[in-house]
Amino acid sequence: MPAGTFAVSTSQTMQFVDITAQVQKAVDASGIVDGICHVYNPHTTAGLTINEGADPAVQTDILTALQKIVPMNHPYQHLEGNSPAHIMASLVGSSVTVFIENGRLQLGTWQKIFFCEFDGPRSRKVFWRIS
Ligand code: ZN
Repeated sequence: MPAGTFAVSTSQTMQFVDITAQVQKAVDASGIVDGICHVYNPHTTAGLTINEGADPAVQTDILTALQKIVPMNHPYQHLEGNSPAHIMASLVGSSVTVFIENGRLQLGTWQKIFFCEFDGPRSRKVFWRIS
């Protein structure tokens, strides 16, 4: 089963990074034309999501809404001080699955795959596996 990793480096505390091209490159390298692509993020303060990539305002809106949902000022017990990032990571989830047809990721017209940084900037990695 073809598998691998690629690097994602983030430049802001909270940031969406469009990784669709890297995932499609993994599909191309796999040689699999009809199958399933699994993408997995192994970090506890980052996540993965699929959403609109056409208007960057959507990414901003999701990030600002997450900041409303998860308060910065709360009596968190985790001493590292980054509990909001851990909670946001759980809210968006740590993996996505996309079907592959004719060698292409079967995303909707406006969909992109995003790496979601919640405790950057950092050097991150993403795992993929294709079956
Ligand atoms: Zn922590």
